[in-house]
Amino acid sequence: MIYDLAILGGGPAGTSAASTASAYGARIVLIEKSRLGGQCLNTGCYPLTKLCLFSRQLVEMRKSFPNLTPSIKKEEEFLKLTHFVSATLVPTLSEMVRKSLADEKIDIVYGEAQFFSRNEVSVEGNDGWRTIRFRHAIICTGSVPNNDRFSNNNLVDNFGVLLEWEKLPRSVLLIECGFSEVELAFALNELGIDVTVIKLENSILSNEEGDIIDYLILFLQSRGIKFINDSQILDISRDKESKQVELLDRFDQHRLFSFDKIITSSRKPNYSNLDLPKIGVKIEDGLIQTNRKMQTSLDNIYAAGEVTGKSWSANIASEQGIVASLNCMGEETAMDYELIPKKILTYPEFAAVGLTTHTAKQSGRPFEIVDIPISSCAKAQIRENVLGLARFVLDPVEDTILGVHIVCPDASEVLTAMAFAIKSKIKVRDLLHFPFPHPTYCELIHHLATEKKRRLTKAILSTG
Ligand SMILES: Cc1cc2nc3c(=O)[nH]c(=O)nc-3n(C[C@H](O)[C@H](O)[C@H](O)COP(=O)(O)OP(=O)(O)OC[C@H]3O[C@@H](n4cnc5c(N)ncnc54)[C@H](O)[C@@H]3O)c2cc1C
Repeated sequence: MIYDLAILGGGPAGTSAASTASAYGARIVLIEKSRLGGQCLNTGCYPLTKLCLFSRQLVEMRKSFPNLTPSIKKEEEFLKLTHFVSATLVPTLSEMVRKSLADEKIDIVYGEAQFFSRNEVSVEGNDGWRTIRFRHAIICTGSVPNNDRFSNNNLVDNFGVLLEWEKLPRSVLLIECGFSEVELAFALNELGIDVTVIKLENSILSNEEGDIIDYLILFLQSRGIKFINDSQILDISRDKESKQVELLDRFDQHRLFSFDKIITSSRKPNYSNLDLPKIGVKIEDGLIQTNRKMQTSLDNIYAAGEVTGKSWSANIASEQGIVASLNCMGEETAMDYELIPKKILTYPEFAAVGLTTHTAKQSGRPFEIVDIPISSCAKAQIRENVLGLARFVLDPVEDTILGVHIVCPDASEVLTAMAFAIKSKIKVRDLLHFPFPHPTYCELIHHLATEKKRRLTKAILSTG
């Protein structure tokens, strides 16, 4: 039989692509070499979020019940948590993914796929090789750890190793300062581990709204996390029980540090075993070439998710999977990277969407900044946590929101409402008449509309 669509990889990109195509009644096969759910479910988003939520509970409890928290045995709780994630949460959810794909009549084949021709893949499973024929294929094989750039890279662990720890280390170095590292730094620090984060040059956080990120970093520093900025790693070596790191700092000084564990989330696209050059898929500068439809240089082969090197989060991977799948089903559609909501699940959280002050300036369009302190929200006062800020980047001509950057508890939930406001180009003045539930952080949007009205009235009065 010939499948309409073969999907290689069952992570967020692959499973979204499969579900999307199933609505078209297509004959679909999804090939997975390991466990359904990919990195996101097995070693990424789910385990890390579980750990962050636990640490967040610790912070809140410490605040509300200071006499209770010293009795919490953190190592014991951590081991219970990782055991729950590995033994219950991940297998249960992976089975839910399998069942929902099977309900959608998607064939699942377990094994490692590689291309044989532009219409065939060979799959090596437990019972030997088999060939699968298809009209369209989507490559969703994700990424693999990228430790090659470190000397002694066997001394550097990847995130998944956390689930195998039998005891908590005393100190941890996190290399790079991306969203996941900041989340992990927060989570481990609250467990009593001495945490240092190296913020390498061109950190992904440098693309975010500077003042808002600084606000978050200051908060994390106040909780004891150390950040080392703009340094280069010269060497990593073993020193008795610990690992030693030699750095060249931004003043060209050599510095030596010792840690129990060194962790990085650095990854690179995973396609080297797929035989792509053999079938003519173009690869340039180490990346599979894709257009905005997620189509490769072969018109029946698409790629989505981390394998493209254009996505390092599950929401983008899923969206790319959907776009690729729709195009395979004949619905012409293209990726739009402009409105991608981002979050860091610390306490308080960081969340952002749309233009920053910097990108608004670069665009040359007129823009206006409105900062609303979280303390203006009744909910912040009730929770006795008034630290935080929402920065809105506005288009004063169209009276619309171009970007939002927030630090506050639950920022990622609040942001979704704002992302919709940006996408649907709602006028800020119309937000004044929306009865937001009270007390919630969503009332920030109402405060924005009130502040805009106040500025407008002041401007009218001053002109006469
Ligand atoms: C610690 C950590 C925390 C994270 N937290 C978040 C978060 O909170 N929010 C967020 O949005 N993102 C988060 N991410 C990123 C997110 O996990 C990834 O962006 C997402 O999983 C990428 O999806 P994907 O489908 O491209 O690849 P993957 O999830 O890696 O899936 C690829 C799949 O392909 C399979 N495969 C590989 N080769 C073959 C082959 N030859 N044949 C068959 N199958 C194959 C693999 O086994 C795997 O199951 C986190 C990542 C990490 C490491």
